[in-house]
Amino acid sequence: MISEIITIGTEILIGSILNTNGPYLSRKLTDFGYDVFYHASVRDRYEDIRDAIETALTRSDLIFLCGGLGPTQDDMTKQALAHALNIDLYFDEEEWRNIRDIAMAHARTITDNNKRQAEFPKGAVVIPNDKGTAPGCKLNYGEKVFYLLPGPPREFEPMVDLIIDRYLEKTTGENFIESLRLVNIGESNCEDIFRKEKIENDIVQINTFAKTGEVEIKIMAHSEGEEDYEETKRAFDEAVEKVKSLFAYHIYGNGEKNLFETLVQYLASRNMTISFAESVTGGLLAHMITSVPGSADVIKESYITYSDQAKIALLDVSADTILDKGVVSSEVAAEMSRGLYARTKATFCISTTGEAGPDTATDREAGTVCYSIRKNGREVDAEEKIFRGDRNTIQFRSAKNILATVLLQELGGEYGRE
Ligand code: ATP
Ligand code: MG
Repeated sequence: MISEIITIGTEILIGSILNTNGPYLSRKLTDFGYDVFYHASVRDRYEDIRDAIETALTRSDLIFLCGGLGPTQDDMTKQALAHALNIDLYFDEEEWRNIRDIAMAHARTITDNNKRQAEFPKGAVVIPNDKGTAPGCKLNYGEKVFYLLPGPPREFEPMVDLIIDRYLEKTTGENFIESLRLVNIGESNCEDIFRKEKIENDIVQINTFAKTGEVEIKIMAHSEGEEDYEETKRAFDEAVEKVKSLFAYHIYGNGEKNLFETLVQYLASRNMTISFAESVTGGLLAHMITSVPGSADVIKESYITYSDQAKIALLDVSADTILDKGVVSSEVAAEMSRGLYARTKATFCISTTGEAGPDTATDREAGTVCYSIRKNGREVDAEEKIFRGDRNTIQFRSAKNILATVLLQELGGEYGRE
């Protein structure tokens, strides 16, 4: 059974309001086992609404019309529906009394215009609206079903909940959705890998989404009912396992917790601590950790050692190393993290030095970042990498990349072995 959501309102099309109704309904329908195939948005224009309905009739079974149930001339969803289906509107006396009562209770004036709200396509079942004067309705049309809902979200959302609760048949369908969050891998690389493995098939669909510094893989399948449930579930589980084992060393979670929350909780649950000696990231690493509630147990102290003098005075970096190797070098990064460990004795001591650009103070390319990660005093990872982007992006990506590295090394591919 294919569902379609049509949101109606010129404001949506010209970009002056954000269409929150479409996604709200989509989420609820998906959770309820329905398969949403189409979203359409049209202006408050009679012909456009009618055309959208006619198109929906050619491809969908369950059609939601959202908005345009108000009392004014620009609210014409019911009229357009009646026209498209070639049925009449009738005037519902009882609803008219209701509408007047509601308006009175809210001390709102009522005009003849409001009478339009008591009109419904013949055969429709009225759906009450506790939050406003525009009732919704449900209309069966052959095998197809229409639902009409008011546009204001404070009326729309409760009506969606009511429809799911009382009106919509519990489908035999079920949606299987798994989200996996990956770090330290690019989206196209990621897609390349799983396409080669041919994990997708008629049953299972996989999509990747690029977020800043991470990639989300969504694995989805839909079963219509008993007949295809077992087969769908098996195919879905198989695909999830394959993706997990393919990307085990990049997956940090399912998106419920972000990378920073995941890392802080990981460290806290093992009584581990972390501290930073930051040059190029300028405190961003410490900020990423302290943005998580409860991080006080994990980060005790942290330093921004931006100048050579600060690196020498606070971290005991040798002036000779800076002279010989340059301040942006893995040698200086290693001395920074060593000095940091001497001070803090944190489980993880991490240092950064680099060039965030756009201008550079050394002969190193903008975007160059050297970092050193020490665990219990021993250097476990040291890299020199180049990050692309403007200054802020370079700082953000490098900082996130470093924290991702710490977490992934600790997890050691745990996701794939589950
Ligand atoms: P009204 O009686 O207010 O006219 P209505 O059922 O006719 O109600 P619309 O005219 O479509 O609904 O929308 C009313 C208001 O609700 C819009 O001005 C807008 O602020 C909000 N709204 C409508 N559709 C959406 C949507 N898809 N997402 C978010 N807000 C919306
Ligand atoms: Mg309106």
